[in-house]
Amino acid sequence: MSQAVRTRPEGSGQPLSEAYDTALLDLDGVVYAGGHAIAHAVDSLAVARTGGMHLAYVTNNALRTPDAVAEHLTELGIPTGADDVITSAQAVARLISEQVPAGARVLVIGGEGLRVALRERGLTPVESADDDPAAVVQGYGGPDLTWGRFAEASYAVARGVPWFASNTDLTIPSGRGIAPGNGAAVEVVRIATGREPQVAGKPLPPMHKETIIRTGAERPLVVGDRLDTDIEGAFNGGVDSLLVLTGVTDGAQLLAAPPQHRPTYVDADLRGLLTGQPEVTVGSDGFRCGGFTATAGADRLELEGEGEPLDGLRALCAAAWSAAGDGSCGLDGGKALARLGL
Ligand SMILES: [Mg+2]
Repeated sequence: MSQAVRTRPEGSGQPLSEAYDTALLDLDGVVYAGGHAIAHAVDSLAVARTGGMHLAYVTNNALRTPDAVAEHLTELGIPTGADDVITSAQAVARLISEQVPAGARVLVIGGEGLRVALRERGLTPVESADDDPAAVVQGYGGPDLTWGRFAEASYAVARGVPWFASNTDLTIPSGRGIAPGNGAAVEVVRIATGREPQVAGKPLPPMHKETIIRTGAERPLVVGDRLDTDIEGAFNGGVDSLLVLTGVTDGAQLLAAPPQHRPTYVDADLRGLLTGQPEVTVGSDGFRCGGFTATAGADRLELEGEGEPLDGLRALCAAAWSAAGDGSCGLDGGKALARLGL
């Protein structure tokens, strides 16, 4: 990767919804959480779409079909067609189709989203290692996936059948807490067989490729809440990104981000799509944004001034990322973040 190391969030004189033609939106922690729309998501997306921005939804979850995801979004008040949903099931199905003969049988360990995506690519989903599969694919199967399915995958993988995973997210948020994600299920088969799967989902290139093919985006903006999937996926694809703080990432994680996890922009929630983004400038006294000035001290980050908390966070990002260079900032930002309520 030959990109310059990002040392501060960028500014934008235009609203992001006008500066970019397509938003590639993550779902969980960005648009909804636990089945409910996140604050300001429905209204902000409606304004962005009315203004001409194409909205597409990009999810690592392979369980549900694009139709089911689109229906859920539409019920939440975000009118969405199935064509505007891109899943890791579609990305892994394309990856498999590039490596096996047309019409090949594929052993599926996962849900309906995977089966539909395989058929869309002309492949034939099968259920048993004895069905002579040309590939094995593993995707999130929901709470009803049984232990016997992992055994089925292991029989085929252990005898050398090529193995694919839609994604390797270790956890999946549920209304009751953190549940094992597809990555945890992949670990089960990896431990049993000692083999490694090919993976399609964010932050890896097959998912980005699938998204660009399906949306035709020319100036895409990735919008996400996770540094190691959404933001790293954008970095790997050479695409700008907006981090929103409505999901799993907090201020301390953002300040400690290594280069591939540093977003182009950061904002509180999806209202950030509708506004310009303030510049962070360098002065003799430190990094300035809005009413704040941030500096890197010997062992901690310092913050002076008053104003919008997000401007303070942007100034702190510049101080932390500049001090860290191509590494990860180890300076304590706790006191400065507490001042901002972040
Ligand atoms: Mg997310």
